[in-house]
Amino acid sequence: MHKLILKPGREKSLKRRHPWVFSGAVQKVEGNPVPGDTVELRSASGEFLGVAGYSPQSQIVARVWDWQERAIDRAFFAERVAHAVAERRAFQYEDVTDAVRLVHGESDGLPGIIADRYGDVVVVQLLTAGAERWRREIADALIAASGIPRLWERSDADVRELEGLPAVVGALSGPAEPSRVTITESGLRFAIDLAQGQKTGFYLDQRDNRRRVREFAAGRDVLDAFCYTGGFALNALAGGAHSVLAIDSSAPALSLARVNAQANSLPDSEWLEGDVFRELRRLRDENRHFDLVVLDPPKFAPTAGHVEKAARAYKDINLLAFKLLRPGGLLVTFSCSGGVPPDLFQKIVAGAALDADAQAQIIERLGPSADHPVALNFPEGDYLKGIICRVASR
Ligand code: SAH
Repeated sequence: MHKLILKPGREKSLKRRHPWVFSGAVQKVEGNPVPGDTVELRSASGEFLGVAGYSPQSQIVARVWDWQERAIDRAFFAERVAHAVAERRAFQYEDVTDAVRLVHGESDGLPGIIADRYGDVVVVQLLTAGAERWRREIADALIAASGIPRLWERSDADVRELEGLPAVVGALSGPAEPSRVTITESGLRFAIDLAQGQKTGFYLDQRDNRRRVREFAAGRDVLDAFCYTGGFALNALAGGAHSVLAIDSSAPALSLARVNAQANSLPDSEWLEGDVFRELRRLRDENRHFDLVVLDPPKFAPTAGHVEKAARAYKDINLLAFKLLRPGGLLVTFSCSGGVPPDLFQKIVAGAALDADAQAQIIERLGPSADHPVALNFPEGDYLKGIICRVASR
């Protein structure tokens, strides 16, 4: 088998079962592996470390499939995908939703592979050369484990470029047309646009947090900033919010949000197309106030390298949000930046409260729902964190 021999001392993170090998850690490549091939990882002294998928174009040059010496083949994917899907069944999500993440990349031992079930379709992202190499086997494994014959591929994430892979969108199995599908989450119906939706189509990681906002919303004037297709906004309405203003810069997302609001026969809300940074300032200048503000921005810091700029952006929107809140109001604020750790995020929010002259307490911390597990050996998977702050009544 092809081999990657590491530089002396560079086996340490692998021994802690961190699944990535960076290009700078590699001493020598033995054999002649092409992108996606399975390579054996060995320390400088020849010790076996794992078997991995090879991504020669990426800074992350290999991702571990397994820590044992074993064949990576059809049976491997069948077994591991079946395991991931079975884990989801164990927490009985069927009572709550028909939309669930079935495979969550590294944290499920399947680097570069994401699979989200939306009703009777599974949307798949293959993000690495290793995942690309095994696309047929992965597809078959997903069909077998989920019992859903229709697979739709959305391998159009930017990270594919780093792997030297082209964007791929289309049917992996089943109908070639990207029809709209409708899912149910906590009793609310959401339409998913398979062709144009962001990521795989919906942000399933926020399921429990949307539910939490519903529980807090009664009687409140709610602002949902970065609303996408209305996830938090519709939950606030379902929870009896007095009013909802929802803002997003994406026109297609907002038009789907309106469809969703109608489909659920919810009271009217205000859907505003705009830049949240600008709109929050305008609302402040117009002296508008709210009792609950949700901030669920996109990833400002994909990696640690973007942290400073991201910190300024988080500070800015959180400061404005504190200014828009009435006494006793709630700020539900998130960061999905892997590069911003939870303690830093809390510091940023604290700084924002200070500068807004708001007294606030943390009343709850939020994370992703259980179908987005974070493997303890893969802290990079711990990207989504949220805080609910209550602003003191003055
Ligand atoms: N809360 C949503 C998910 C939000 S994802 C849910 O529960 O489904 C982040 C959203 O921010 C995307 O819809 C994206 O279109 C939007 N967005 C990104 N930058 C923006 C900006 N500067 N102003 C307004 N919206 C923005």
